[in-house]
Amino acid sequence: MENQPLITEIQRFSVNDGPGIRTLVFLKGCPMRCSWCHNPETQKTYPEVYWKKRLCVQCGACLEPCPRDAINPPIPIKLAQEEGSSYQKIIRDRCDRCMKCVNACRYDALAVVGKRMSIDEILTEVEKDRPFYDNSGGGLTLSGGEPTMHAEFSTALLAAAKERGLHTCLDTNGFCSWETLEKVVKHADIVLFDLKHMDSAAHEQETGVKNDRILKNLWRLSKTGAEIWVRIPVVPGFNDTLEFHEAAARFLAGLPGKISRVDLLPFHNWCQDKYGWLGIDWKFKETEALEPALLEIPAEVYRKEGLPTTIGGSGFEAAEAMGA
Ligand code: SF4
Ligand code: SF4
Repeated sequence: MENQPLITEIQRFSVNDGPGIRTLVFLKGCPMRCSWCHNPETQKTYPEVYWKKRLCVQCGACLEPCPRDAINPPIPIKLAQEEGSSYQKIIRDRCDRCMKCVNACRYDALAVVGKRMSIDEILTEVEKDRPFYDNSGGGLTLSGGEPTMHAEFSTALLAAAKERGLHTCLDTNGFCSWETLEKVVKHADIVLFDLKHMDSAAHEQETGVKNDRILKNLWRLSKTGAEIWVRIPVVPGFNDTLEFHEAAARFLAGLPGKISRVDLLPFHNWCQDKYGWLGIDWKFKETEALEPALLEIPAEVYRKEGLPTTIGGSGFEAAEAMGA
């Protein structure tokens, strides 16, 4: 298939990304650049190199194969491992991602992020957990990155999953043309739609794009009767104000179609390592994770507008609590 995207990960046993127990398929490539992004390895469409400082023994075996002189020579391990050190093994602006160094490393300190898989290979992986889906109401969640950036592939993957009798969710940031969104959602049982800010200037500052297209797409999608779960990442200093939540709740309650639920997703920093492995200086590296309990008051704002709201998006627990 043309423009076949890379897969960064197939993650099993997720209970926070749609109903029941689910397998998440992450596609690589996203048109947005959210500054807090929890999956930075999915932003770019091309393969990247992880360098895992903790595993690197500074043997220097990766030096010689590098045709671009893009690897720093060995230094004492202690120095390289030093907490807070800005030392990076790979000089990223020289690296052309030939991956020769990865093959030379015997300590798994270097790894390629992004691999091509056919739809059949992906679904074979996903189907391994079919008994769990059957018992929990789970299935496949297609995520990223941004699946609509690979519209043809995403549509075909979701259609093939449906043909195999799998429940499907599409996790999207909604930043695409309406025609693209309409096409991809056709084979999704539930759309997990991200909402990040109601103010377009603030949205652009932290994500790289304005929000008008996203809000319009959500409006039109709700009109089609699609099942939509809105997901709101709550990020300190960005959208963690009652003013934002009130504006978002009013907007969601005023849509022409019903929103099945709102999931408030508290900012966390579990992705810290991935930024280090990619050699990216993360803006939020000093920011503490948000206590879920702090989102109780914002959650009430949505509930008052008649929107069923969870904190953390624990679909499986919520389903159990409802006796499903
Ligand atoms: S991927 Fe290639 S160019 Fe980049 S550091 Fe490794 S060997 Fe050098
Ligand atoms: S080959 Fe691997 S362990 Fe050795 S210096 Fe390179 S990255 Fe580190």
